[in-house]
Amino acid sequence: MITQIQGLHHITVLAADANRNNRFFTDALGLRRVKKTVNFDEPSVYHLYYGDEVGTPGTVMTYFPFPQAARGTPGTGEVGETQFAVAPGALAFWTDRLAELGATDLATDATFGQRRLRFAGPDGDELALVERPEDARRAWPEGGVSAESAIHGFAGARLRLQDGGATSELLEFMGYERAEQEDNVTRFVMPNGNGADTIDIEVLPDTAASRQGAGSVHHIAFAVPDRATQAEVRQALLDTGYQVTPVIDRDYFWAIYFRTPGGVLFEIATNEPGFDRDEDRAHLGEALKLPDRYEAQRERIASRLEPITD
Ligand code: ZN
Repeated sequence: MITQIQGLHHITVLAADANRNNRFFTDALGLRRVKKTVNFDEPSVYHLYYGDEVGTPGTVMTYFPFPQAARGTPGTGEVGETQFAVAPGALAFWTDRLAELGATDLATDATFGQRRLRFAGPDGDELALVERPEDARRAWPEGGVSAESAIHGFAGARLRLQDGGATSELLEFMGYERAEQEDNVTRFVMPNGNGADTIDIEVLPDTAASRQGAGSVHHIAFAVPDRATQAEVRQALLDTGYQVTPVIDRDYFWAIYFRTPGGVLFEIATNEPGFDRDEDRAHLGEALKLPDRYEAQRERIASRLEPITD
């Protein structure tokens, strides 16, 4: 079993309009944009990162906005819900705020003993706020949301799968513990994790596979401290039969990727070096940052990106 994983690192989603996406995650949800860069594999589109003050692993929601992208079709083989943690009592505030801002599909319920507010993001993104006690993580204080209500980071994510068996085994191999079950949903918890520590598996054997598009999660990343522990995890996954990519430099973390049995793309990302490696902490996310290999083309790349009006 792997013992190096600490919980979630980031979740990366597809979007259509960059400005609408930016407004929703900064103005409405009160997260900080901690990086404005491009998709390293497709530099004609942005890669936008939203999180806490410094983009602490476990708080970071990231987006690839493809301006003409069609909506995704929800289904199995994907991350079905991204869950953010708020303090107990905060959902009343959020219900009013999100309704006022025109968010759709608002619904409140209780799951695994926690109150949950589900809502749709700008591209139909399936999002939820979950009330969790004793979350010591500090929310971004300048997001326009009071400290009592602000988002602390991810609580976790829900995977929607046709068959949960092999992915459940994988999560346990990754250090998650099977916790509770409610109907067709099983909760897995990372002990001593970074706060973004639950993964739910919802099994829907008769639901067709999702089709990726705007609003769909592209991949979900799990955190390891550093490159040495990442190498250990990579080897353990290879030894178990997973096809894992080589280590890829993403400037703010190092990444490896592998496809899971249920169809979801997993990434293992390092906590180092972090989002302040190339920007002052006071100005994170303001300037367009490019990896070195694209710097020579900065003017052309920037001219093709729709400016983001903050
Ligand atoms: Zn990623």
